[in-house]
Amino acid sequence: MAIATINPATGKTLKTFDPLNNGEIAAKLDLAQWAFEEYRRTSFPERSQWLQQAANILEQEKADFAKLMTLEMGKTLKSAIAEVEKCALVCRYYAKNGPNFLADLTVKTDASQSFVRYQPLGVILAVMPWNFPFWQVFRFAAPALMAGNVGLLKHASNVPQCALGIEDIINRAGFPVGVFQTLLIGASQVADLMADHRVKAATLTGSEPAGASLAVAAGKQIKKTVLELGGSDPFIVLESADLETTVSTAVRARILNNGQSCIAAKRFILAEIIADKFEKLLLEKFHTLKIGDPLATETDIGPLATPDILQDLDQKVKIAIESGGKVLTGGSALSDIPGNFYPPTIIIDIPLDHPIAKEEFFGPVALLFRVADIDAAIKLANDIPFGLGASAWTNNETEKNRLIQEIEAGAVFINSMVKSDPRLPFGGIKRSGYGRELSIQGIHEFVNVKTVWVQ
Ligand code: NDP
Repeated sequence: MAIATINPATGKTLKTFDPLNNGEIAAKLDLAQWAFEEYRRTSFPERSQWLQQAANILEQEKADFAKLMTLEMGKTLKSAIAEVEKCALVCRYYAKNGPNFLADLTVKTDASQSFVRYQPLGVILAVMPWNFPFWQVFRFAAPALMAGNVGLLKHASNVPQCALGIEDIINRAGFPVGVFQTLLIGASQVADLMADHRVKAATLTGSEPAGASLAVAAGKQIKKTVLELGGSDPFIVLESADLETTVSTAVRARILNNGQSCIAAKRFILAEIIADKFEKLLLEKFHTLKIGDPLATETDIGPLATPDILQDLDQKVKIAIESGGKVLTGGSALSDIPGNFYPPTIIIDIPLDHPIAKEEFFGPVALLFRVADIDAAIKLANDIPFGLGASAWTNNETEKNRLIQEIEAGAVFINSMVKSDPRLPFGGIKRSGYGRELSIQGIHEFVNVKTVWVQ
């Protein structure tokens, strides 16, 4: 894929970039390694202060950064502003809590002194996606830099200006030169980077093939990876749920980021007894959604990020229909206007044994399934290769406990949509990946957990 800014709302190419050549990449690696040798010796208060300053810049210039995101990948401006604010929050969270998370941990043994010390690993590569072009990067960078690592960012090829903007924020915040650099490179250049002795570990958020490819390259070098991949999260609604709140949240959970979120609710699993009502309310609410210019405040759904994403979604909907699925609204791309627009869509009656029922629909398409009871709901929720998040709605305590205990996912949210929060770990199981971001678990992913024993 060319490294370029192409406005998804118009299809117009606004700026292109040449990928770095091998010599340029080598120079950046040298700088990163050189920076690490000094940066690892900086104090927690210094790193906290730089993170706080990054948060200040994000907050002061949020309108500009938000516009850049909307321009490059089409999310609505209001959601882009919220994303920048959340980036500031994660910087402040680790500025405040990082020192405690990384403090020596005393363990009583028969030594005169024994403890765990957390030390940085070195240069960490972050391969990031376009869907939350600021948030995905800051949720990696804030803990990684707080821990004393340095970062190299290979961002998605369709958000190069966001990538350069983030590097600029971190430099302006006062972090030493070379502590965080953007590499404008294509996906095919990542495996060689992983093989370089200066790169110590990597994190990737994106598709399964990209994650598998990075894990292979890292595995050959015995280097650690954290992978945050796709999902087809269930949204389970049982009889006792408050349907008005549930349906309103269902809409937000599905159309979040124009439907392009790994933790968006994608499979709506409905107890038969409330299914007709849920379906009717959801359809009513989908009909009120406004699709259009992502810069306009009244817009609910902007364009999909790229023509490839649009084509992939369109193809999956076609297969769902061929398999026996019925479309209640939407169902095909809006081809009469420029840009990558896809309407909010609801599909029912997809046969459970058809492979398409287990696919991730990366756009505003809700798949509705009916089940007899909680046993069938849990079985269907788990009958999928992914395990990222799950949202479940009930006011019955026994059901709540069963859902928490039995759903196979990295997160279960009861009577709430799935969301990330700096205070809680975030990540998946099964083919949704491994490792955790955010919280104390996130900052411990890229450190040497050193055991110290003094006799
Ligand atoms: P990709 O997984 O292809 O892209 C994500 C990042 O990985 C980009 O920086 C990309 O670079 C890079 N990448 C791609 N292939 C490789 C590789 N072989 N080795 C190393 N890095 C690689 O996502 P797409 O944009 O193609 O989206 C396809 C699908 O992926 C979506 O429909 C969705 O299902 C899923 N996805 C999931 C996301 C999530 O949040 N979990 C985010 C984005 C996508 P480049 O841009 O240069 O190709």
